[in-house]
Amino acid sequence: MKVLRGQGVSSGIAFGEIYYYNRTPNVVEKTRITDAAAEYKRFERSRNAAIRELDALHSKTAETIGELDAGIFKVHQMMLEDLDYCNSVHSMIERDRLSAEYAVELTAGSFADVFESLDDPIMQARAIDIKDISQRVIEILTGKRNTLAVDRPSIIAADDLTPSETVMLNRELILGIITSAGSMNSHTAILSRTMGVPAIVSLSGLDKSADGKKAIIDTDAGTVYIEPDEKTFEEMNAKLKCSEHRKMLLKELVGKDNVTLDGKRIDIYANIGSVGDIPLVKKNDAGGIGLFRSEFIYLESDGYPSEESQFQVYKTVLEQMQGRRVVIRTLDIGADKKIDYFNLPEEENPALGFRAIRLCLSRPELFRTQLRALHRASVCGRLAIMFPMIISEKEIEDTMAIVEDVKLSLKSENIPFSDNVEYGIMIETPAAAIISDILAKKVDFFSIGTNDLTQYTLAADRQNVNIEPFVDIHHEAVIRLIESTVKNAHAEGIWCGICGELGADTTMTKKFLEMGVDELSVPSAMVLEIRNTVRNIKL
Ligand code: PEP
Ligand code: MG
Repeated sequence: MKVLRGQGVSSGIAFGEIYYYNRTPNVVEKTRITDAAAEYKRFERSRNAAIRELDALHSKTAETIGELDAGIFKVHQMMLEDLDYCNSVHSMIERDRLSAEYAVELTAGSFADVFESLDDPIMQARAIDIKDISQRVIEILTGKRNTLAVDRPSIIAADDLTPSETVMLNRELILGIITSAGSMNSHTAILSRTMGVPAIVSLSGLDKSADGKKAIIDTDAGTVYIEPDEKTFEEMNAKLKCSEHRKMLLKELVGKDNVTLDGKRIDIYANIGSVGDIPLVKKNDAGGIGLFRSEFIYLESDGYPSEESQFQVYKTVLEQMQGRRVVIRTLDIGADKKIDYFNLPEEENPALGFRAIRLCLSRPELFRTQLRALHRASVCGRLAIMFPMIISEKEIEDTMAIVEDVKLSLKSENIPFSDNVEYGIMIETPAAAIISDILAKKVDFFSIGTNDLTQYTLAADRQNVNIEPFVDIHHEAVIRLIESTVKNAHAEGIWCGICGELGADTTMTKKFLEMGVDELSVPSAMVLEIRNTVRNIKL
């Protein structure tokens, strides 16, 4: 038995076989060939295999997610059938005697450059598609695949997973996630909590030798047992039974009120990243959705999601929540959430850089598309729109000017939208918390993003595990900022919630109730646990 230790970031115990995701960079060397005809045949075979794969992907996505999202695979198929693309590869093989993989790599590079040089962001985004289809062909040619193709229930292991790799996982087959890198508040950790998948990050000694081995992960202890001995197996089995028993007890709280012994109420909502998270929200009886991280729609997509495809997502969420409040946060891309097709410049300090509202205000067309989709969907339920990373009054004014403009254009097109949409901001920068008395006059609600608020207040990168020993997540500075934000919100008669991970910390629940926090938005799996805590508190 091998025992690895790390940090549990999403609770639970899982038993299963490890699937190690070994990401190998496909470096294509410049190689000359002699038989051009045979080489072109190799290319043709791989190209056709790629087209067949895309066809299968299209059918699967259309079935499980929807025709709209599946469309991209049809576009990819068409790109691989493009004559110019094939002719370019052909002439490099024929004329320059280059290997098929090298000819594909060069063709991808030159086509992508052309797309990137165009002004239209939609055309620019095609550069990623060209690289993507070419990568698929190169992987088939070299036999080196970089796909996280899990075909049976497994514990996924990797050096690290990007947020987009995590969202692509088929959650029905994921028993747990274990990684060598990662930290408590990295988005991959947050996503695993949202999906209710047990996860341990920052594991030392995890490598590809674990692939295919039986393992148990115990997130409470932050421990992974590879090829566990019988004693460990029995102990873990007993622990699993205990935790299942606790879940059963918590189930009895479904339908009950979030009220303290002395009658103080609080809303307990759930955080989600996609429509697929809603069944867990319902199962755990959350009162609403307090944070829908809409950027995951962009992360799951190969190009800018259209107004129509976003509208369908927002409409589904609102309809499924049947009149309960749904807070949708506008695009918060940047920092660790990177998307190639945004073509953002490299930054020295991305967490302090061009992200979230800064990006949206700099690219109003992108912002308008999302705002139009949101307002169109507003007639389908109780919508609240929330803007991330605000630091000033001016940002709220500029944002609301775009909102007003979007509403005017919808009106002129006779497209209905609700007049009851709430507009709020995240308080996740010290600047916003400090001037929350001023900002409260401009919006309908606040939601405190303690993950970023902690990172910026304590000057502690949330992605960096090495500094975790120096970071007190209950630091008095952060607590005081939360307290004054709630006070300032109430002075202006608006509500204030917490949607950062600290909201799910049951050692803080009493304090938050005392401060008068109106709502806690937490991973679905924590809703009943917090309800239980609230119901046992006397203030
Ligand atoms: C936060 O910063 O606390 C928050 C909820 O936003 P995110 O974790 O997505 O940055
Ligand atoms: Mg944040």
